[in-house]
Amino acid sequence: MIKSTDSQTNRRTLMSEKTIFKRIIDKEIPATILYEDEQCLAFQDVSPQGPVHFLVIPKKEIPSVNEIEENDAALIGHLFCVIRKLAAEQGITETGYRVVTNCGPNACQTVPHLHYHIIGGRSMTWPPG
Ligand code: AMP
Repeated sequence: MIKSTDSQTNRRTLMSEKTIFKRIIDKEIPATILYEDEQCLAFQDVSPQGPVHFLVIPKKEIPSVNEIEENDAALIGHLFCVIRKLAAEQGITETGYRVVTNCGPNACQTVPHLHYHIIGGRSMTWPPG
């Protein structure tokens, strides 16, 4: 019988704790990537809620808005500049779009890695469900 060492077990445990978005950042699973730089990644949502639906995420592993720190201010600002640029590329600047970040269970956050949904290409209602 082959017994795994503690370090092998620890490595497997750490790997299994990666979020799906961290695995996309690390190119372990595929995604349709729209934009990437040293700070962030943007890719198509696998279950689009409109003609345009992509996600913008920081490469830094911030679980949600709750964990954003003061020294993340420039990073968060950068994410919004990327959102503006990609919205223009997707042709939704004039028609409008929604930027959504779900935070915690009441807001239906399913992936514990900060992400902004950019949804457009159709008209929407308010308030959200
Ligand atoms: P939230 O519910 O706000 O945490 O949003 C998570 C989003 O990630 C959902 O809109 C999912 O459709 C999307 N998603 C989950 N897995 C993937 C994936 N492998 N590639 C692209 N988008 C994904």
